[in-house]
Amino acid sequence: MQTDYLIVGSGIAGTLLSYELIRNGASVVVADHDDGGTMASRVAGAVLNPLNIPKWNFVKDHELYIPEALLTYTGIEKFLNIHILHRHSIFAFHENEISKQLFAQSKKAIEDQLQEIDDDENLYLQRKFNYTHGVNKISPVWRIDAVLLLSCWRQYLSDHAMVTEDRFEYPDAVIDAAGIHWNGVDAKKIIFCEGAAGMYNPFFGKIPFTRNRGEALLVDIPALDASYIYHQQLRLVPAHGSMFWCGSNYRWDYNDLLPDVAWRQHAAAVLNKWLQVPYAIIDHIVAERPTTAGQVPVVMQHPEIPSVAMLNGLGTRGFSMGPLLAKQMAKMVLDI
Ligand SMILES: Cc1cc2nc3c(=O)[nH]c(=O)nc-3n(C[C@H](O)[C@H](O)[C@H](O)COP(=O)(O)OP(=O)(O)OC[C@H]3O[C@@H](n4cnc5c(N)ncnc54)[C@H](O)[C@@H]3O)c2cc1C
Repeated sequence: MQTDYLIVGSGIAGTLLSYELIRNGASVVVADHDDGGTMASRVAGAVLNPLNIPKWNFVKDHELYIPEALLTYTGIEKFLNIHILHRHSIFAFHENEISKQLFAQSKKAIEDQLQEIDDDENLYLQRKFNYTHGVNKISPVWRIDAVLLLSCWRQYLSDHAMVTEDRFEYPDAVIDAAGIHWNGVDAKKIIFCEGAAGMYNPFFGKIPFTRNRGEALLVDIPALDASYIYHQQLRLVPAHGSMFWCGSNYRWDYNDLLPDVAWRQHAAAVLNKWLQVPYAIIDHIVAERPTTAGQVPVVMQHPEIPSVAMLNGLGTRGFSMGPLLAKQMAKMVLDI
């Protein structure tokens, strides 16, 4: 099969890049092999928040990334006729007096992102949560329905014979300056969007990938209003129905991607203290974040082989940074 671009990986990086390339008239084949449900994009909370909680400052370059992300996800909604972009407010509960003081010092600089909590909301919070150090309301923030986006995009690719579930194995590919041949696919360029597996990519061995795993719980909390996100030590993000995504943690030293029972117990202890309403833990999910030293994203053409490129290193902010970076990568390879 002849195609313009072979893309390895259909997490949020491969999804956004294939969308940008197709939108610009190029043909693609996407190879994505599920290694047992550890795709970071399916484990993510997928929240776009210009603010850093609990540091109470703005996230670096949020003014570049978030507007572009909103534009792109709205475009995908129209393209696929689905609803994936949800606007929310976050109730951020202060853990202690230090957090409250830090907030007071930063308030002026972030006031555009703050909203008053009205009487009904105050009453609601007092009935559902335990807290003694106060709460603030951040608005707007956005959430992407990642599972719906990734599933629908994959279905679109499948309907147009543009996806294969085969794992891309480097020794099976013939790659030279003119193009790539792999598994019956002839492409003029291969673009690696492999997520954390990128650290083993032999073409990009010099990129300083760092290991970082994170996990989340899926928690059923019927009594909570799913139009809000809630943040204390953990974040509760509406998922579907009465389910909330609850996460997350960061670990740099580990030998496997098995759920950490001690973390789940810690999370349950936090929820027991924080929530006044019943909840049930339904699932526990884990993935590696594709991170580099200094959290620098990778949008690059191989320095010596013109038919090889990489989009990776989306770190902790794949859903907010991905749209702009995928657009940059598409422009680079399409030369527009
Ligand atoms: C717990 C947690 C919470 C997070 N919360 C947020 C958040 O709120 N907001 C946010 O913006 N980001 C968040 N992130 C970060 C976000 O998930 C990542 O930045 C993003 O998902 C990375 O996307 P990716 O496409 O690069 O990698 P992935 O989503 O991991 O996708 C890579 C895909 O490539 C496939 N693949 C790899 N090698 C091959 C091969 N050889 N052949 C075929 N297929 C292959 C893999 O199987 C996988 O499906 C979070 C991450 C975690 C773990």
